[in-house]
Amino acid sequence: MINRDRLLADFTRLLQINSPARKEGQVAEFLAEELREIGCEVQFDDAGEALNGQCGNLIATLPANSDGGTRLLLGAHMDTVAPTEGMKLIVEDGIIRQEGAGVLGADDKAGIAAILEGTRSVVESGAPHGQIQILMFICEEVGLLGSKHLDIGLISSDFGYIFDSGQPTGHFVASAPTHESILIGFKGRAAHAGVCPEEGISAIAAAAAAISRMKLGRVDCETTANAGVISGGTARNVIPESCEVRAEARSRDVNKLEQQVQSMRDACEQAAAETGAALSFVATREYPGYRHSEDARLVRFARKAASSLGFTPDMVDHGGGSDCNILNGKGLPTAVIGVGYEEIHTAAEFISVDNLARCAEFAEALVRASAEG
Ligand SMILES: [Zn+2]
Repeated sequence: MINRDRLLADFTRLLQINSPARKEGQVAEFLAEELREIGCEVQFDDAGEALNGQCGNLIATLPANSDGGTRLLLGAHMDTVAPTEGMKLIVEDGIIRQEGAGVLGADDKAGIAAILEGTRSVVESGAPHGQIQILMFICEEVGLLGSKHLDIGLISSDFGYIFDSGQPTGHFVASAPTHESILIGFKGRAAHAGVCPEEGISAIAAAAAAISRMKLGRVDCETTANAGVISGGTARNVIPESCEVRAEARSRDVNKLEQQVQSMRDACEQAAAETGAALSFVATREYPGYRHSEDARLVRFARKAASSLGFTPDMVDHGGGSDCNILNGKGLPTAVIGVGYEEIHTAAEFISVDNLARCAEFAEALVRASAEG
C-alpha cells in the first residue's frame, strides 16, 4: 500500500534539490541510494559526458521475483525547466505549490516520487512482479536530449510508461506527432533605401511573401505548423540583404507532414522567384511520431492496471513531443502517463496531494500487473 507520508516526504525532498538541466547530480544521488535500498541495481549511461552534465541517465533494474512476468519500464525526468534554488515550498489545504517567481518542479518530480513509492510499496508487500526498470532522464526540458543520448543497450524491458503529463492523473497519451523543424533563409541584395532602392532585393519582403502564402496554425485535425521566429535586416535605411525564418510543422500522419513541409517549401520558392531573392530551405526531422492502437500490448496492460484501481484511463492524442517519441523511435514501445500536476512551467505550478497519491497508486498497480506476462 502507498505510504502517503513517505511519498510526500520524498516528493518535498526532491523538490528542494535544485536540478536544472545538466545539474541533476544530487537528485540522481538521492534516487540511486533509495533505489539500491529497495533492491535495484543502479547504473548510469554516458549521456552526461556527451551533454556536459553532472551525470548520465539513471537506469535502475529490479530483478523479477517470479517467473513468466512482463519486463516493465517506468520513467520520468530529473531536470526542471528552471532552477529552483532557495524555493519556499507551501503545503496547504492538500495542495503543494511554491512562493516566488520560479517553478515548483512537480514536472517531473511528482512523476519520480510516484514511481519510487509505487515500486517500493510492491517490494515491501512481497507481491510477485516481473523485472522492473526505472529510467530517470537528464536534460528533458532542453530538447529531449537525455532520451536522444540514451544508451538503449542498457534497457531490457518489453515496454514502458513515462510519467510526465498533467491532468487527469493516469491519462494515457496514445499518439503524438512527428516533428520537423524548418530553417528558411532568404538572401537578397543590400542597397540604400532612399538613394537607390531599385538596386536592392529585400530579403524581408521575400520572407513576408512566403509566410503569407503558408497555411499555418491548425492545418487539420492531425497537423499543425508555425513560423515562430523571423530575423533580418541591419538598419532602417538599408534594403535588407538577408532574412531568416525559423518554422516548424508537426503531424500524427507522416504523409500529411510531408505534404505540409512541401507546401511551405513551395511558398518559399514562389516568393524567391517573384522577388529575385535566393532561398535556402532546410527541414530537419526532430523526432518521429507514434500511435499505439487499442490492442497494443502496452495499452491493454495499462487498462488492466487501471481497472484494478477502478478507473478507465482517458486515451489522448497529443500535439507535442516527449521522451516517448524518442524511445518509440529507438524501438522501445512507450507511452506518456498523466501525473496530474497543473500550470507547469509557471510560478503557479501545483499538484494536489491526492493526485500525487493517485499517481503513485497507478505506478504500484503497473508494477503489480508485471507479475503476468
Ligand atoms: Zn516534464
